[in-house]
Amino acid sequence: MILAMALVLTLTSCYNRVEGAANGASVGSIVGGVLGSIVGGRHGQDVGTLVGLATGAVAGHTIGAAEEKKTERRWRQRRLDIQDDMPQERELIPREPLGYSIEQPQTKPAPLTIAHRGEWKSQGSAQNSRTSLERALEMGIWGTEIDVWLTRDNHVMVNHDATFQGVTIQDTTYKACKRLRLDNGEKMPELYQLLNIMRKSDSPTGLVLEVKKHRDAQRSRDCATAAVEAVRKAGLLERTMWISFSIEACQTICQLLPDAEVAYLSGDRAPHELYPMGINGIDYNIKHLRQNPEWVDEAHRLHMSVNVWTVDDPKEMREMRDLGVDFITTNEPERCERMFRPR
Ligand code: MG
Repeated sequence: MILAMALVLTLTSCYNRVEGAANGASVGSIVGGVLGSIVGGRHGQDVGTLVGLATGAVAGHTIGAAEEKKTERRWRQRRLDIQDDMPQERELIPREPLGYSIEQPQTKPAPLTIAHRGEWKSQGSAQNSRTSLERALEMGIWGTEIDVWLTRDNHVMVNHDATFQGVTIQDTTYKACKRLRLDNGEKMPELYQLLNIMRKSDSPTGLVLEVKKHRDAQRSRDCATAAVEAVRKAGLLERTMWISFSIEACQTICQLLPDAEVAYLSGDRAPHELYPMGINGIDYNIKHLRQNPEWVDEAHRLHMSVNVWTVDDPKEMREMRDLGVDFITTNEPERCERMFRPR
């Protein structure tokens, strides 16, 4: 009876298919083995273990799949709610002494906010840390960005710089990375650990995942593939936008996930050059968009999104809104929200 209850409890705490099948198989085999040994001794135990393993795996997989769908539905609805709340037009404030407005009606929608490397400026936080992710999720903004590198032994680590405290992540091992401490004392996270935080959160905030450009194109592709697998395993594909300076990484993600939102970061290609590759967004430094303002309309005509980084100054936030960007990536997510979505 206790074992049967353990089986039910384990299966009901499955968040996705993979976890469900694994949990179901392990608990099912134990329950099956015990029941089998009571009924048929040693032989019964073997048969019971096998039957329990198979039954548990199927049941866990089914429950995990249902849970994945539920999470996706809930998340999609919350994102729609946020977009509905967005002011579509800026109200003009009449200038009384003149008796007429000197501004043209402003019809550009307010850009959505992406926290650059999480919400890391507050006390106790640090860039790309668990805390920075949790605080960005609490804010309920559109997205929060992280950067990932692949170690020599193929672990996906979260960090911005190629070299951290003298250790070059792509040249070293997982074990060496785990010894490194971030500025707030946390250990350098592996991607799956941050995905676990997102998976368990009710926040509507999505993930903007930057696959770093590695020393050679193949390692950038490998990192993209490993990151896609981790996000798929966590059941967060619907909640993730992908970005990279590496054109090869972008192309790999487009091939693996034809429906994903994938944006290129380097700022050296016009939208029409990226569109045939399946890349459906540009995510450029503000200086590149100032040099090529026509790329905003070009991208929108191709149904591509436009993201700009890293915009912390309120004047530049307004400038980018007036240019028509869809997203602003900023180290000051609260400031950006207050400007475009005051509560
Ligand atoms: Mg980044």
